[in-house]
Parts: sequence; C-alpha cells; structure tokens
Amino acid sequence: MSLAGRARVAVNRLALKFLQFPRPFILTGAGSSLALCREIANTGARRVMVITDRPLFDLGLVAPACKALADAGVAVEVFHDVVPDPAYEVVLGGVERLKRFRADAVLAVGGGSSIDCAKAILHCHANDAHPARLTGVWLYALPRRRGLPLYAVPTTAGTGSEVTIVSVVSDVQSRTKRPIIDPKLVPAMVALDPELMAGLPPHITAATGMDALTHAVEAYVSSLADEQTDVLARAATATILSQLPVAYANGRDLAARERMAIASSMAGLAFTRAGVGYVHAIAHQLGALYHLPHGLANAIVMPHVLDVSKGHCAVRLADLARTAGLAREGATDAALADAFIARIRAMNEAMGIPSRVKELRREDFGTIVRNAFAEAHGTYGVPRYLGKAEARALLEGMLP
Ligand SMILES: [Zn+2]
Repeated sequence: MSLAGRARVAVNRLALKFLQFPRPFILTGAGSSLALCREIANTGARRVMVITDRPLFDLGLVAPACKALADAGVAVEVFHDVVPDPAYEVVLGGVERLKRFRADAVLAVGGGSSIDCAKAILHCHANDAHPARLTGVWLYALPRRRGLPLYAVPTTAGTGSEVTIVSVVSDVQSRTKRPIIDPKLVPAMVALDPELMAGLPPHITAATGMDALTHAVEAYVSSLADEQTDVLARAATATILSQLPVAYANGRDLAARERMAIASSMAGLAFTRAGVGYVHAIAHQLGALYHLPHGLANAIVMPHVLDVSKGHCAVRLADLARTAGLAREGATDAALADAFIARIRAMNEAMGIPSRVKELRREDFGTIVRNAFAEAHGTYGVPRYLGKAEARALLEGMLP
C-alpha cells in the first residue's frame, strides 16, 4: 500500500482516540419491537414511515408494529420497496415517499438492506442530496444535517447496521457498493426482538451469523482496535461460536436468537470504530459482481484471508481461540490461530457454506483486486497489506 494510504490509516487511528460515536438505546427480548413502537409514540411522533422489504411485509412480520403504532395514535405509511443491496434509485424513491407523507420519524424493520436503505433515505432527505454525493469514507468530517429520528428492528442477527455509522448502497452503473459514513446515521432506539427472527430459514441464519462473526474478527485483528472494541469483539466472537450452531439447528430457540442478536450488535459497535478488513473488501466485490449475499460472501472469504494474514495477527487470533474455549495446554499462538481458523471452516461446512465461489471467474480478478484495494487501502487497519500478486493467489484459492 502507498505511503499516503498508510498515513490516512494513521490519521484515522489518531482521530479515533478523540472520537466517540453515538450508540442507540437498545431494547431486548421477545416483544421488545412492540415496546419500541410505544416509545416512538411517546416521543411525540405522529407520522411514521415504516421502511421494509416486500417479502417481510407479505409474511405479515411488519403488521404487529404498524398496529402498535396505530393503536398509539400514530399515522403509518409503509414503504416496502427495499431490495437486497438497494440501488440509488430505491433510495431516491424512499425520499420521495418520505416527502409526500410528511413523516416525522422512520422505523426500519428488516435485515441490513432495510436498515441501510432507511439510513440513506433519511440522510439524502435531510441534506437534499443524491446518494452518490454522500458516499465516501472521509465525508463524515464534512458538516451534514441530521435526518429525522430513525428507529430500527433488525430481523436478522448479522449486519449490526442497527448500531453502526455506515449505510452501504449500490451504484448500479459502476457495479460497486458504496458506503455512506456519518455518526448521524446511528438510530436513536433499537429493538432486538428474537420473535421476529424465529422464522428465518437456516441458510440465512448461517450467512448473517457469519457476517457478524466477520465483523468481530476483522475488528479484533485491526490496527484501529482499542480497549472498548476488543471487549465487544471478544464477547461477540465467543457468543457467536457457541450460539450460531444452536440458532441454525433450531430457529425457534428464542434464547439463542436473542443472544445472537446481542452479539451481532456488539460486533457492529466494535467494527463501527475499528473498521473491517480484506474479508469485507473482497466480499463487497463478490456481491457487486455476482450478487452473492453479503454474509455468505464473508463466510466463504474469511478463512482464506485469515490464512494469508495469520503470520501478522497470530497473537490476536490466539486470543479469540482462547475466548472461544479452543485453548490447549502448551499450544503456541500460531497453533491456536490455526485452531481458530479451522473452527470457522468447520462451522461453515456444518452449515452448508461452501469453501469456494462457484460464480468466480479468473477474468474478473483484475476488477476485484483493484476495487478491493481501493476500498481497503487507506481505510482499513488490516494486519498485513497484500500485493496484487498475493491477492490474485488468494482469489485462485476460491475458484470453483
Ligand atoms: Zn458485514
């Protein structure tokens, strides 16, 4: 990586010492989404736009929240146009609806795409700007107007979007995913309600859970990690390794669902400060090029990236192995790092997640490496920066 890139990461590290990001007030437990609706009404909001996706709406998952709001005297408008990896056009459509309805607050119900989309809609609405003008990593230093109050009910335990300063939107034209980053994107209040996650199919439970694990692990090995992100990342890792297999095997286990939801938020709080790394940088390209779901892409890429990075973060990976109860008497840090990576591979295999990307084509390597480096270098504090040849070799290992 260039000297300028290293300098940017160093400046970021320094800035983080003085920055505290806002955290939402978090309600947890079965029924907490309805309690959140009553709290929204208590704030004095009278016109709430609910942002979600069509499948969740058709499943009836949004109806209880809408009823709770209506019972509290709040007028409700549902915008259910969110699709996975929402494009600029979807965001602009939401801004239009928000204006027409004259909402005074927004409730996002759904996975990462719904919450990210709601954040982008509010940010574009408040700043009267096209999403393309608000994307970019360093723009949070610019003065931006705060959007309407945002409330969130995640229906997956994975992205952590309910607590982060990030919204990822898709630029269809350049086939890239673009981040909007601003502390003003953080929701005011969140409900982690396991009842809304009980019906999630096992393969989505697996992929979203591995996304949360990736946030915890990448935040922990990042050079931007600090004491507070370490505590969060270690706790999230331990919980996910023990609870994800339980939630995968029995989606109706509300205790496991709730613990996964809390772990996912903890991992979100960790990476909103410490950032992510090459796993995300590469997974974002696989999502943009082949529409691979974000969590699935991370799950596949993570062991490959950890294998090439472990020489520079063995102590940190060994910490995580100990946290997860994988420590063995007399084992070296290198051996524990290997045991941790092996555990991730075993979890993937047990949940039917492949070790390779069947859509991956060698002729796309140039684009993937260029865009992944553009995302990671100068932004993420990865333990070791790769050269192009090393990155291509890593991708070779993921070819079908
Ligand atoms: Zn992620």
